[in-house]
Amino acid sequence: MDTIVVVGAGVIGLTTALCIQQQNPAQPILLVARDFPTDTSVNYASPWAGAHYRPVPGASPQALREANQAQRTYEYLKRSEPGAGVEFIQGIEHLEAPPAEYLDTQSVRNVYSHLDGFRILAREEVPDGVVWGAQYGTYVVNSPVYCAHLLRKFVLKGGETRRYTLANLKEAFAFGNVKTVVNCSGVGIEDPKAFIIRGQTCLVRNPVSQTITRQNQDGSWSFCIPRPLDGGTIIGGTKEPHNWDPNPSLETRQRLLANAAKWFPFSPESGGKFDVIRDIVGRRPAREGGMRIEVEKLADERHIVHGYGAGGRGFEISRGVAEDVTALMLENNLLPAKASL
Ligand SMILES: Cc1cc2nc3c(=O)[nH]c(=O)nc-3n(C[C@H](O)[C@H](O)[C@H](O)COP(=O)(O)OP(=O)(O)OC[C@H]3O[C@@H](n4cnc5c(N)ncnc54)[C@H](O)[C@@H]3O)c2cc1C
Repeated sequence: MDTIVVVGAGVIGLTTALCIQQQNPAQPILLVARDFPTDTSVNYASPWAGAHYRPVPGASPQALREANQAQRTYEYLKRSEPGAGVEFIQGIEHLEAPPAEYLDTQSVRNVYSHLDGFRILAREEVPDGVVWGAQYGTYVVNSPVYCAHLLRKFVLKGGETRRYTLANLKEAFAFGNVKTVVNCSGVGIEDPKAFIIRGQTCLVRNPVSQTITRQNQDGSWSFCIPRPLDGGTIIGGTKEPHNWDPNPSLETRQRLLANAAKWFPFSPESGGKFDVIRDIVGRRPAREGGMRIEVEKLADERHIVHGYGAGGRGFEISRGVAEDVTALMLENNLLPAKASL
């Protein structure tokens, strides 16, 4: 049987490789990547993610597609093994100046109603200045632990890995008898529609039991995300399209922590002080119009199946994306269906 090469060992490549394996356990798969879990590079987004699930209302094709992928991922993560670094906890949102989509009941229902225990908070339940609030059951992910867990599963099921930096995607066909390459390279390779969104957050030791997101009057966002398995708490965060600065800004750190002390329920003993583990700077791999999920046909019966450009929601949509990529491969006869016994 031909080998399928999956390019990329971020949350999208790993989840996709596992989904293909699940579809056909006998299929040889080689995961080729420049970075693997435990590596830290500003260009490898996955280990830097918070990561939590917060639905985003909207009516654009991208918003609707992501909402569907996010719902399937929510159900999938409910079945995570204990060591995966995933935990279901309460999610709270406090918005001071909600965009129009939040005030439209139907568009809110479209993306929130599947969440366990979802309800809009009454005016007396939200802090001063907050115009829209909600609570629901959500999950938080210790992203480096989760990625390492996915890689371990892939290898235990017979998947192979190779550390290599591809100069272009056609090179990936040279790894043996390869007819299909699955491109989960994050920001993509040579795609003019792709761009990065810089994110700065701060990892602290101070524990918190909920994930809370607050949108401020000036349009900025603050959030706290406890990382399972004693992984500390992520305090965030910035979203800066096209900002290539790899260095953390001290001023940003101070602003994030000052907001967190004001709005999030850290224990009174901490006295508004934080025990900082590290600043985090990562590049979200974004793309105009959202992810590219499509088959590109090359000469000689060779194909590239693209699955990249997840932006700021790679964990939230990971399983949905992996299922969509796998379904596309089956439709195009690029993956032999599992033999029925
Ligand atoms: C600060 C921050 C906070 C975030 N918070 C959240 C959150 O709360 N929830 C959420 O869902 N998401 C969050 N994200 C976004 C999330 O991290 C990304 O959407 C996700 O990690 C993208 O995964 P990926 O696999 O597509 O890309 P990546 O993780 O970047 O992986 C890309 C892979 O492709 C490989 N690769 C690239 N080019 C080549 C090449 N030429 N040759 C070989 N290999 C190559 C890389 O080495 C890597 O293995 C956050 C991101 C940041 C930075």
